[in-house]
Amino acid sequence: MNFEFTEEQKLFADQVRRFAQAHLAKDALKRAHDPRFPFDVAKLMSAQGLMGITIAESDGGQGGSLMDAVIAIEQVASVCPRSADVVQFGNFGPIRTFAEYGTEYQKKKWLAECLAGNAVISLGMSEPDAGSAVTDLKTTAKPDGKNYVINGTKVFSTFSPEAAVFLVYVRYGPGVGGIGSVLIERGTPGFTIGPPQEFMSGELWSELHFDNCRIPAENVLLGPGGFKKQIASFNIERLGNSARSLALGRYAYNTARDYCLTREQFGRPLCEFQGLQWKFADMKVKLEAARLLLYRAAVNADRGFPAADETTIAKLMCNQIGFEVANEALQTLGGLGYTSETLVEYCVRRSRGWQIAGGSIEMMKNRMAEIIFERRFSQRPPRAKT
Ligand SMILES: Cc1cc2nc3c(=O)[nH]c(=O)nc-3n(C[C@H](O)[C@H](O)[C@H](O)COP(=O)(O)OP(=O)(O)OC[C@H]3O[C@@H](n4cnc5c(N)ncnc54)[C@H](O)[C@@H]3O)c2cc1C
Repeated sequence: MNFEFTEEQKLFADQVRRFAQAHLAKDALKRAHDPRFPFDVAKLMSAQGLMGITIAESDGGQGGSLMDAVIAIEQVASVCPRSADVVQFGNFGPIRTFAEYGTEYQKKKWLAECLAGNAVISLGMSEPDAGSAVTDLKTTAKPDGKNYVINGTKVFSTFSPEAAVFLVYVRYGPGVGGIGSVLIERGTPGFTIGPPQEFMSGELWSELHFDNCRIPAENVLLGPGGFKKQIASFNIERLGNSARSLALGRYAYNTARDYCLTREQFGRPLCEFQGLQWKFADMKVKLEAARLLLYRAAVNADRGFPAADETTIAKLMCNQIGFEVANEALQTLGGLGYTSETLVEYCVRRSRGWQIAGGSIEMMKNRMAEIIFERRFSQRPPRAKT
């Protein structure tokens, strides 16, 4: 066991940080308040080799590890928190499921464009009546000759107002075994994208409506029985989500630390007040503890899928700590922290969402209970005894 980065990892972290300082520092504040996906940043990152870090070289990626991608998120977020979303998209999001299970035809058609920073994929999983209970999803895919006909509605999909293609969870038949996924292009007849709506973070999402939307069979990503594979690769998404939560908490912490070294009240710098020193001690310990759990999940997964229990623990901890630390850091900036002059309030708003997205902290705790007691706890109402 070794708690140090390797020489290669140190070098990579250093390179990413220098790239971020050179290209992303200048407009970091402006970028956080722009709801549009920063395609300019995505193109820069593509040229820098930061898109597809975990994707095989044969598929146009870098053939690196999940830990490399976590390092990239940390370094980018330490300079420009909003740009960490691009690292997420290019390495942890639906793009990764797509690279893992997509056919040659599908990869050729969409993956290269995403890795080049020219297009984004959006994940259509949640529905109005199927959020945490995702297996209740009702969107259907019915075979019709060489096509599939899609009907249903999706909500909350990140990047949906701009995405070129959507990875949509569908039901081919009843039960969990009937769930799989398809790829649907923007502009396909029968596919309507509703007006953009705003999350608390400022990000936009649109309702997705499929009304007898006909897609070719080549667009099937995973057929019936694909749900387990989708959730296994969703664990990767969860690692990216955890890494960003923590990185934004750390960004806010660093900003607050610098501020408390120079801001004076009662004739002394704020860092001399014990009430604030103890806050920083708590923040630091929490950030370090959560980071170890994140690194464990990422390193043990290497380039495969991370273990569900380690991802669950990492997500639970990082989502809570990222938000708590960002929120506490805001407090130490006083009134300034509550303005949009610094990125600290953005880090609070943004990290709040990750306690809900990608499996809420309550669902992570339910999963923990199953790990602890080594048995399944159905969340469904008990069946009436006959
Ligand atoms: C920032 C953000 C980005 C998102 N991006 C996407 C995306 O790209 N694609 C996509 O498909 N979806 C996306 N979502 C949606 C997200 O996956 C859902 O919001 C999430 O799964 C929760 O579902 P829900 O909102 O319907 O809440 P509900 O499932 O209705 O839950 C409401 C509350 O009850 C709790 N709860 C529910 N069931 C239980 C239980 N059994 N035990 C204890 N507590 C429970 C939940 O934790 C939550 O606190 C995003 C959401 C957010 C906030």
